Amino acid sequence: MHIVENQPPSRMIDAGLSRDFYVHRDASWQEFSASLRTNKRWKAGDVLGPVRGTKSPRKYDTVQCGPSSEDNITVDSIFVYVNHSCDPNVAFDMSSKHPSEWHIRALKAIDAEEELTFFYPSTEWELDQPFECRCASPMCLGLVRGARDVGLEQIKARGYVSPWIIELFRDREERVGA
Ligand SMILES: [Zn+2]
Repeated sequence: MHIVENQPPSRMIDAGLSRDFYVHRDASWQEFSASLRTNKRWKAGDVLGPVRGTKSPRKYDTVQCGPSSEDNITVDSIFVYVNHSCDPNVAFDMSSKHPSEWHIRALKAIDAEEELTFFYPSTEWELDQPFECRCASPMCLGLVRGARDVGLEQIKARGYVSPWIIELFRDREERVGA
């Protein structure tokens, strides 16, 4: 049974975002039951909206926004419902020094009614709660633990890598090389 819910919680209502996106709930899934879908088509490179959030300790639903394990945000918009896929169609681009420029960008063409997904290791060095992925993509990694357990090339192949992930790989190589 599928329940389609068009009204996100009130704190998440944003005029533009609630017109273009909706939260889809799948009652057959216990844990990751909500997903975000779009009402319209997007081209690769389109900006879907801003990433806004509140600094927060790392949790299963925060997004890493810098090199430290303390650099995380709780996303304060409907985009909090964007789930992981090993073959993602959007990137959370928080590469700018200015949080006002952080945005979600289409990595490929996206159809109306399609679920939006991003590749968690593109932002997360180490997940607070590793999980067994069920994305069913031929590129599926299975157990997802974070970037540190995926090669940098594997992340690049999915279209986007956060600058701190590149930095953390470099730090690790330097430690190993020392
Ligand atoms: Zn997967």
